[in-house]
Amino acid sequence: MQQRGVTIWFTGLSGAGKTTISRLVLDKLRSRGLRVELLDGDIVRQNLTKGLGFSKEDRDENIRRIGFVAHLLTRNGVIVLVSAISPYREIREEVRQRIGNFIEVYVNAPLQVCESRDVKGLYAQAREGKIKNFTGIDDPYEPPAKPDVECHTDQEKVEESAAKVIEQLELQGYF
Ligand code: ADP
Repeated sequence: MQQRGVTIWFTGLSGAGKTTISRLVLDKLRSRGLRVELLDGDIVRQNLTKGLGFSKEDRDENIRRIGFVAHLLTRNGVIVLVSAISPYREIREEVRQRIGNFIEVYVNAPLQVCESRDVKGLYAQAREGKIKNFTGIDDPYEPPAKPDVECHTDQEKVEESAAKVIEQLELQGYF
């Protein structure tokens, strides 16, 4: 199947559903025979950006490195899925400009919903003060002003969210 390289960037609070949606999109695209790669924030932080913390400076460096790899893959025709909180608008914009072929997906669920899911138990730890600089609790999240796709994961099923992303890819002529 013909495809063009593109980075699909999932941004949103912890527990909003970035990993869940991006994995489903990955499976769906692979089953169509497309070349796809997933850069998941949690995994990237164990290797590519190991040692970086959660200050604004370190978060920006984390995103810059992810963006660098995403760019290399994108220009070689790969569909790259990036799942990272990426709370700062300016660095997301910088990466978008550099990569060019870029679809921003805002995975949006209210903080209360993310916190009640508490998939990794991190919100509870942040509330107890055991984790500092936790996005949404004591660290900022700047939502995208004009995302290409917005998934309201408190109102829609994972399947619907994934379908929206794939629809946008087709709409923009990436495959
Ligand atoms: P993140 O990667 O943003 O930190 P996760 O994908 O790890 O978030 O967790 C999101 C949680 O929300 C999962 O337990 C998932 O099953 C649940 N969930 C409920 N509805 C949705 C939806 N529409 N899209 C994505 N996740 C959803």
